[in-house]
Amino acid sequence: TENQHYDVVIIGAGPSGAVAATLLVKHGWRVLVLEQQTFPRFSIGESLLPQCMVYLEQAGLLDSLHENAAPLGFQFKNGAAFQRSGEHASINFTEKFSQGPGTTYQVKRADFDKCLADAAQQQGAEIRYQHTVIAYNNLVDGAQLLVKNQQQNEYQVTARFILDASGFGRVLPRLLDLEQPSDFPVRSAFFSHFKDGIVDESFDRNKILINVHPIHKDIWYWLIPFSDGTASIGVVAQPSRFAKNAEPLVCLNDFLEQDPFLAQLLSRREAIGDARSISGYSANVKSLVGNNFALLGNAGEFLDPVFSSGVTIALKSASLIAPLVDRHLRGENVDFVTDYSKPLQAGVDCFRTYVSAWYDGRFQDVIFYTEQNHQVKEMISAILAGYAWDTDNPFVKQSERRLATLVSLCQS
Ligand code: FAD
Repeated sequence: TENQHYDVVIIGAGPSGAVAATLLVKHGWRVLVLEQQTFPRFSIGESLLPQCMVYLEQAGLLDSLHENAAPLGFQFKNGAAFQRSGEHASINFTEKFSQGPGTTYQVKRADFDKCLADAAQQQGAEIRYQHTVIAYNNLVDGAQLLVKNQQQNEYQVTARFILDASGFGRVLPRLLDLEQPSDFPVRSAFFSHFKDGIVDESFDRNKILINVHPIHKDIWYWLIPFSDGTASIGVVAQPSRFAKNAEPLVCLNDFLEQDPFLAQLLSRREAIGDARSISGYSANVKSLVGNNFALLGNAGEFLDPVFSSGVTIALKSASLIAPLVDRHLRGENVDFVTDYSKPLQAGVDCFRTYVSAWYDGRFQDVIFYTEQNHQVKEMISAILAGYAWDTDNPFVKQSERRLATLVSLCQS
């Protein structure tokens, strides 16, 4: 086959790949995106955080998101609600410490991801669907990829720089032996879309609901409403909590019935299609960058779904990498560790503090504490809204220490 050469090849057309492609074609580079599936395709990860609107705006994608929101059933979102054995708490993202948007959407990812990918294509990125990257070869001045197309034919493509945005496919971590186990224990999620049938007028559709299991505090449910009367509902627990070989929908319904608040709220629910499950999704890597490549979004590290930080981290990674790749391609000397890995990691580590403290129960006690100081609540709200890179926020800058002090106050 002919030698195909690009400035940048991106593996995967999910949010991180599509936004990185859009930003790089704006700089004038020839960009090819190789995507294993056809779009629209299902993906989990439906509740966005306001921080990610900043990155969508940078890529010029915000107007099209607002225009498409109503027809596609995307739900306006302004916060997070929590329920634990009758205790209720609610965080309003518009009341937050950090500057920036305080609202966003909950999206059906099949449509959301297609919007972003179509926009990248309109801006001039080439996307090849049903093309799977199967091998990687390092070159002095770039890299060569082996690709299999929909006819199962293999061909090669070279690029001066490769961005791995393959999500849970984790293409380069696997091919280059960069994988590292996550610090978090293996957890599984069972989930489905439902006609939610919610009639309770006190239920706020503008917020994701995070619901703690009545007995096991490390088990939690999400209820992500969309604007068309449907919702994404899921439960997360260690695999041993789920019956072996049980149907995912049976498992999920069984868990929903264990929580009196959810069982009542969702008593009229009707599942749409089959439920799905995913297990062992938390992952880490030895390095986010290497010779002429970088890992974006989930292809790098994935923490945990509890605070809906996945797409925000994915878009942050795209927003950080694009100007650096631009400079690198123009021949400048770029330090990807200092300017990409470290700043990206700082926000991920902030989220990690709060995710760990969620599972050991300490952060749950902070969330459900009713006497919270208003300023402190705004600082926590900013982090839950995704502003985990704002080091003016003391709960970002010194997350472990500030959280520990707050926990002792809330538990006393
Ligand atoms: P993806 O969106 O996964 O895109 C990767 C693309 O690469 C895919 O389209 C795939 O087909 C393609 N690909 C893979 N391998 C290859 C290959 N070899 N060749 C070519 N293409 C390839 N995040 C949130 O923000 N909010 C949430 O509410 C949320 N909930 C979650 C719940 C659960 C249970 C889990 C597990 C995750 C959740 N997430 C959530 C995380 C979210 O799903 C991801 O962080 C997000 O999708 C990452 O985007 P990405 O662009 O990195 O990868």
